[in-house]
Amino acid sequence: MALLGESVCPYCGVGCRLRVEGARGRITRVRGAEFAPANLGRVCAKGALLGLTVHTPDRTHYPLLRQSRSGAFDRASWDASLDFVAERFRGIIDRHGPDAVAFYGSGQLDSETAYLAGKLFKGFIGTNNTDSNSRLCMAAAVAGYHTSLGSDGPPTCYEDIDHADVVLIIGSNLAEAHPVTFDRLRAGKKDRPGQRVIVVDPRRTATCAIADLHIPIAPGSDIAFLNAVARLVVENGRADEHFIAFHTKGFVKYVAFLMGQPLADLIGATGVPRELIEEAARLIGKSKTFLSLYCMGLNQSTVGMWKNNSLINLHLLTGQIGKVGAGPFSLTGQPNAMGGRECGLLCHQLPGYRFVDDARHRLEVEHFWGRPQGSISPRQGLSAVEMFQALDERRLKAIWIAATNPMVSMPDLHRVRAGLAKAELVVVSDAYHPTETTRLADVVFPVASWGEKDATTTNSERMVSRSPKMWDAPGEALPDWQVLCRFARRMGFADEFDYDCGSQVWDEFIRLTKRRPCDMAGISSSRLNDGVSLQWPCPDAYHYGTKRRYLDQHFPAPDGKAVFLPRDHRDPFEVPDDEFPFILTTGRVYAHWHTLTRTGKVEKLMARDPAPYVELGFEDADRLEIADGDSVYLTTRRGQIVLRARREAEVRTGTVFVPFHWGDLFGEGNALNYLTVPVFGPVEKQPELKFCAVNVTKVRRERPDASRTPLAMVEVVHRS
Ligand code: SF4
Repeated sequence: MALLGESVCPYCGVGCRLRVEGARGRITRVRGAEFAPANLGRVCAKGALLGLTVHTPDRTHYPLLRQSRSGAFDRASWDASLDFVAERFRGIIDRHGPDAVAFYGSGQLDSETAYLAGKLFKGFIGTNNTDSNSRLCMAAAVAGYHTSLGSDGPPTCYEDIDHADVVLIIGSNLAEAHPVTFDRLRAGKKDRPGQRVIVVDPRRTATCAIADLHIPIAPGSDIAFLNAVARLVVENGRADEHFIAFHTKGFVKYVAFLMGQPLADLIGATGVPRELIEEAARLIGKSKTFLSLYCMGLNQSTVGMWKNNSLINLHLLTGQIGKVGAGPFSLTGQPNAMGGRECGLLCHQLPGYRFVDDARHRLEVEHFWGRPQGSISPRQGLSAVEMFQALDERRLKAIWIAATNPMVSMPDLHRVRAGLAKAELVVVSDAYHPTETTRLADVVFPVASWGEKDATTTNSERMVSRSPKMWDAPGEALPDWQVLCRFARRMGFADEFDYDCGSQVWDEFIRLTKRRPCDMAGISSSRLNDGVSLQWPCPDAYHYGTKRRYLDQHFPAPDGKAVFLPRDHRDPFEVPDDEFPFILTTGRVYAHWHTLTRTGKVEKLMARDPAPYVELGFEDADRLEIADGDSVYLTTRRGQIVLRARREAEVRTGTVFVPFHWGDLFGEGNALNYLTVPVFGPVEKQPELKFCAVNVTKVRRERPDASRTPLAMVEVVHRS
């Protein structure tokens, strides 16, 4: 066995560094790199089994093109398929203007690609219609950091887990979604028995195995919980007056706001006993170091940004930020969701944490790209959900989808499908075909996947790493950034997209981060290519990176102060009623990642979680006469699906839980997201995937539909 290389895992945002071993062209072993700060030698089952996802029968080898949606795909050359796409793009832009086209990317894309997608579409084509599936994942955290602290980006690092007296896990099933970070916390807790872990989650998830205190709040009541805790911290005399006086603003208004909220009302909204909230406030108030870990449970909400603000308020109130073992720590779901933010892929952003609606920022970037003033539109582009709604309304005519599978992951899939059907042009770049989305495309571009290209990514703790190419991509597959460059040349921008290698792209991008909050000017390709990983800010070539931000307690706001933002509890958009009396909440399971394009190929992972299901509490299941394994209809205002039931003692009465991973390839029309609601918050524009109203009824007579049995679903995946 030979060491093929060290690479960052392409799944979740923990960003585990992996040692990849192989022989005779096959990967034989993947294990955690011992000295990597993210994982310290650990790896979860998904990472360890990555080798089985590389040489699968459904890898894309050649460009695929078809003249009509009802026709079959034909193999095409790169020249022919790129000419076809460029000609269609040019025609649409000529007829309807640049805002009629869009690029929908992913936190899976490396930073080189994310940067070039923004450069091409925002700087040269002239539309800000670039967004990413990070919008479904972290947009609320981005907006929360920015509004409360003055800049996006977590202040913390994984090592803080080892130093925190109290860890608050809220809106995160860490054990299944970020298992290596969970293992670190669990192992560290054994060594430090005084550490206290509070888990706030409507469900008693696997993460609760290490909880000293589990607070099963009502779904959607996070702000009420956080405000109740904050009020009790103030009443207990545990506010950090010195920190508040010198490093924050807005405190007086915030305290008046808290005191104006009757505690009984706040606690009533959470639906949990007062003693649990008092205990949380006591633990947090007296802790020397308080760290919070959070994820989609806070973010996927119409008030996701407000939830983030409320959590950060609690850190400011207790002075628990800008020191070892403390701070708010958002856990990104994807390997390079952070990098996409740094590169400005979201529709309101420009590279280096700049914004399209800031005239100075536009000018700086236009100057850097050699573009005339006014080239970058001052209007925010379409965000993820808006793109598919705009396709459905025929305002958007063409979409290029890269490294993501929106026909599984977006809310309200019936409308997503309708939008894609109405589009004049759907281009999908993917390493696999068919996916639920490539099936609806006009053109499928084959792209290099993990291990087949040099790729720079940033993990949840701001650690920038470059994963080297370890083996060749199949057939004619190319790195995504090269596909974009070939397309850009056909769009008339040959000189501006003429790069010899990805390192050149990266070194251009980091110049745009100089003196910005995410300063990566010192993280050059030459350092990354030597296998060095560095945390930004890292402003020069001699800098060794920054583990923790704000240690000087100076925040990147104009006056250097963080701001308290009073936020009150709001109900989710669609609350239960007589017709749809249950709350549908969604999440992930340990064995799978996103839409199964990789994990669905691994038998061991499929054996652990072979098929979708719905979890119901005992009380509801008894009332509806539903036994384990029964089929049940789930019906919302947007659609109906059928799933097998699991009775779970710990699911709250009135709530059902469904994991989101399985799409149409596992049962046509039966994916969870046919049910979810496509509403989003006004600033962060992150959809409320965690909450909608649903009806649950038992299927009295089984339909003879074998594709919905778990066994058949496994077979479907291996045939695909
Ligand atoms: Fe990969 Fe995440 Fe597992 Fe680490 S925890 S091996 S990054 S899936």
